[in-house]
Amino acid sequence: MQEKVVEVDPAVLAGLDNYKNLPAVQQPAWPDQAALEAVHRELSVLPPLVFAGEVDILRSRLAQAASGKAFLLQGGDCAETFADATADRIRNRVKTILQMALVLTYGASMPIIKMGRMAGQFAKPRSSDTETRDGVTLPAYRGDIINGYDFTEESRKPDPRRVLQAYHTSASTLNLIRAFTQGGFADLRSVHEWNKGFADNPANKRYLELAGEIDRAIAFMSACGADFEQLRTTEFYTSHEGLLFDYERPMTRIDSRTGTPYITSGHFIWIGERTRQLDHAHVDYLSRVRNPIGVKLGPTTQVADVIELIEKLDPNREPGRLTFITRMGASKIREELPKLVEAVRDSDANPLWITDPMHGNGMTTKNGYKSRRFDDVMDEVRGFFEVHRAAGTFPGGIHIELTGDDVAECLGGSEMIDEASLEERYESLCDPRLNHMQSLELAFLVAESLANARR
Ligand code: PEP
Ligand code: MN
Repeated sequence: MQEKVVEVDPAVLAGLDNYKNLPAVQQPAWPDQAALEAVHRELSVLPPLVFAGEVDILRSRLAQAASGKAFLLQGGDCAETFADATADRIRNRVKTILQMALVLTYGASMPIIKMGRMAGQFAKPRSSDTETRDGVTLPAYRGDIINGYDFTEESRKPDPRRVLQAYHTSASTLNLIRAFTQGGFADLRSVHEWNKGFADNPANKRYLELAGEIDRAIAFMSACGADFEQLRTTEFYTSHEGLLFDYERPMTRIDSRTGTPYITSGHFIWIGERTRQLDHAHVDYLSRVRNPIGVKLGPTTQVADVIELIEKLDPNREPGRLTFITRMGASKIREELPKLVEAVRDSDANPLWITDPMHGNGMTTKNGYKSRRFDDVMDEVRGFFEVHRAAGTFPGGIHIELTGDDVAECLGGSEMIDEASLEERYESLCDPRLNHMQSLELAFLVAESLANARR
């Protein structure tokens, strides 16, 4: 039977290209336009990575979270790299997110929406267009989708072939994520097997106890005849910052069921703190696609900005459409967040509010590493829950930079990572990530806060 295909409105296509008439910051200066256009053509006929139907399901899940009935856990690298898209590293990250989600589900008795900053998180906004080392100035590293990290002229030159490589790397990453989460690895009956690390670590110990409780609960329910087919697989969504038009535009496709555009490079796309200007290209572009959209809000955000963002990105007040990702910093969240949350509460909008306790808490260590204190991260999370409790709004999720590996990038936590350890196990090319154990510790804190928030 022929599938019914809706005709595409030419105004929709013209609208998608309206971003070209607007200022767009944080885009690379590609040296070879002809090569770039060839990449656009090739990318625009490659298969979508995600499908409109999945994106619609995610929107409905996020709507649940916005109304206090679910919680979003979003995590992954600051910047994915081509070199680190290996089976081990992808598995470790997925495992860490699954473990955190388990702690949260069990601790707060609430559905947890699992989402990776994965399979597309390759483009980075930078504070400066150039970087100078020992008197040599070169273009800044903008993420593997644009140029290389090595500090040489050749490597730092933007190369459009990298955009295709990012697509293929995302495809193989997503393939593995789908295999892990659909193929039995995510089965709740194997929660013990996700664990790694030393049994005497306090967070690990708590995790093993929890896994034991879950085993007993499952054994009890099986004995009662319950059917556990649903525990075998789990939904897992992908997300990244929608930064690079030369990737997102060719990956935007018109859904044949509805004639509307979807970005098919990931399920959830967010706008960064540096590109959320109301009259610029990023807000305009994302206002025209059907995906659920996030917007980062830093400590200088004004109430009027938030109201305008809602008007532009969610004019129909569609449940699950819009997520605000606040990243105020531990020392500012209790002062800066209340006015935003209250103004939105008193409006007709119902966005999802989640906390990013990473990006407002950056610091540089004495030995020169970009780092964050685990205590500041924890404090911002506490502040987030306090502000929402006081306003009577729902603290609906958390957005973090994490890895499943045993790195030393953020200071503190139960392993007491200090400045000297950074010299040995610092791997991030961009922002510092919580390691496996710190991520688990954070999950326990969030689970407690979430359980309290629901009381
Ligand atoms: C990021 O998420 O890596 C990032 C750059 O965040 P922000 O836009 O909040 O600074
Ligand atoms: Mn980052």
